[in-house]
Amino acid sequence: MGPPGAGKGTQAKVVADHFGVPAISTGDIFRANVSEGTELGVKAKRYMDAGEYVPDDVTNLMVRNRIDEKDAEPGFLLDGYPRTLAQVEELDGMIKHTGHQLDAVLVLTVDDEELVQRLLERAKTEGRADDTEEVIRRRQEVYSEQTEPLIGVYRDRGILVEVDGMGEVDEVTKRIFDALDVVPQS
Ligand code: AMP
Repeated sequence: MGPPGAGKGTQAKVVADHFGVPAISTGDIFRANVSEGTELGVKAKRYMDAGEYVPDDVTNLMVRNRIDEKDAEPGFLLDGYPRTLAQVEELDGMIKHTGHQLDAVLVLTVDDEELVQRLLERAKTEGRADDTEEVIRRRQEVYSEQTEPLIGVYRDRGILVEVDGMGEVDEVTKRIFDALDVVPQS
């Protein structure tokens, strides 16, 4: 977890590689569907372009199907899901069914000024449709309103790992690995 621009996608790939599990990014799956022009992509696009969350029923079904795939059997890292309290409940139900459990919920914290700088930089290099200033602002609001409350939920469950996401990519990766080693994997 982390606000837009916190570095979730970048770090998710490194961490998932380390553990030999797939990094499942809901944002990436939505973007792939948008570029392929699938029915799911058409549904998701208008929300994404506005910086809003795609409705839970659409997102949940997509994640359910994805974690049922063979490569996710040994485990998986979710990047960008769950993002709402309803998705938390849905995920609990899904993993009960697959027999997995949540080992850790990682939150990357980055201060607001750095977030804006990173997103504006990404806008230049990746050209994401939702990296305009107006949409960035809306995505940050939606994160504060709908996703930040999840931090307390997972803290109460004792699986929250908060990591400082400021600085260079490698430094942040090192902090993540240091922090995860102290999380019980029971
Ligand atoms: P991301 O690449 O994670 O920043 O996601 C890009 C966009 O995809 C978000 O702004 C949402 O519109 C949509 N999205 C990704 N994950 C979710 C989710 N778990 N729930 C709802 N919408 C999502």
